Amino acid sequence: MARAPLTIAIIGAGIGGLTAAVSLHQAGFAVDVYEQAPELTEVGGVINMAPNATRVLYRLGLDQGLDRDAVRPHTTHQRRWQDGRTLQHAPLNPRCEELYGAPHLTVHRADLLAIIASGFPTERIHLGHRFVELVDKGNATEARFENGVRIVADIVVGADGINSAVRAALLGDDAPRFAGCVAYRGLVPVEHIADLELPLGSESWLGPGAHLVHYFVSRGRLLNFVGWTQHDTWNREDWTDRATIDRALAAFDGWHPQVRRIIAAADTCFIWALFDREPLPRWSFNRTTLLGDACHPMYPFMAQGAAQAIEDGAVLAACLTAAGADDPAETLRRYERLRRPRVTRLQEMSRANKIRYHMPDGPDQEARDTTWARAADRSPEALRWLYEFDAGRDVAEQLFGNPPCGTT
Ligand SMILES: Cc1cc2nc3c(=O)[nH]c(=O)nc-3n(C[C@H](O)[C@H](O)[C@H](O)COP(=O)(O)OP(=O)(O)OC[C@H]3O[C@@H](n4cnc5c(N)ncnc54)[C@H](O)[C@@H]3O)c2cc1C
Repeated sequence: MARAPLTIAIIGAGIGGLTAAVSLHQAGFAVDVYEQAPELTEVGGVINMAPNATRVLYRLGLDQGLDRDAVRPHTTHQRRWQDGRTLQHAPLNPRCEELYGAPHLTVHRADLLAIIASGFPTERIHLGHRFVELVDKGNATEARFENGVRIVADIVVGADGINSAVRAALLGDDAPRFAGCVAYRGLVPVEHIADLELPLGSESWLGPGAHLVHYFVSRGRLLNFVGWTQHDTWNREDWTDRATIDRALAAFDGWHPQVRRIIAAADTCFIWALFDREPLPRWSFNRTTLLGDACHPMYPFMAQGAAQAIEDGAVLAACLTAAGADDPAETLRRYERLRRPRVTRLQEMSRANKIRYHMPDGPDQEARDTTWARAADRSPEALRWLYEFDAGRDVAEQLFGNPPCGTT
């Protein structure tokens, strides 16, 4: 008689948790998702998604929503903060599809979350469930929630973000540390800046102690900007209460008129502080594991945090599909072994980019600009090791003994 599918409880319905849910559901597992929020929502944010992530989402059959709501930027352009001089310029679409069979997309987070959720049965997403406690029962794991609900599953996956309570239950509670950066974020209706005649691309402006990125989302109806500035301390009350457009303009005083014009045209402005953790030595314990920011938060300076959470879900599904119900604890350790080198590399590269992007003007910055002009290290070709990784296919090959792609 066929065995019942493994039951899998995912804690957290963010981009990572939902992608894992769809991947595991399609692979035939009995999946339930538990989310603390009363509704599925992502306020304000937007996201850059490289081919290594979009490949996973297209393969899950989410093309209709992606093709409807996301934008395919034609180019990526890095420029100097004061005079707009070009540092690097590279094609993105259709080049990424030609090279890697998947596009580079920019998308509003709320749209992305709704698109991924559309691939999973609504009744299996349990909202208003804040995870608080884990009990290892040997051949199963019990998860307890603040509302009194207790569930038992063959496998529990903590996909509950950088402040993960599942991580704290496994590894102890230590707070993430402030990474010395805050971001001013805003959305600009394109009709407010029509006179700028911006190309359909992603632009980054680099200056001393700061950089600002802007690109289109929501079918091209909105331009998103995120402007990062360095600060020694963070105090939530002080910052969030003063997240005004004037304050963002003051932070980018003296920058190129295009940058200041975009900030000034935003409807509202948000501030977001960046937090960080050291890479974890391990994240799978018996029948519980972690994914996404819960185990490998990274600075967004490679634009890969959500992309790696998406890869995690696909790799976890590939590992569990290959192993079936045999020894889930060993399968979770294998998943972790496959993922850790790649995500640790990206955590380190993202940290290094904070220094490279924020160099004070001077000889080091001039040397950086010269190197970039020669090497074009943001081009799709230069990022082959990152973009061509196929989380499903490459891991299936790895499970049969080939070296993991994207970790060398
Ligand atoms: C300003 C900024 C820009 C970024 N830009 C990019 C980009 O362009 N590209 C990219 O790939 N990445 C980007 N990132 C990184 C990306 O946002 C994260 O890596 C990604 O959202 C992580 O997804 P996740 O599902 O692991 O966690 P989250 O998105 O944090 O989701 C966690 C979920 O768990 C829920 N939860 C939390 N605690 C509990 C609990 N106790 N019980 C139940 N549920 C709980 C939360 O409510 C949430 O729904 C950016 C990050 C920032 C800050």
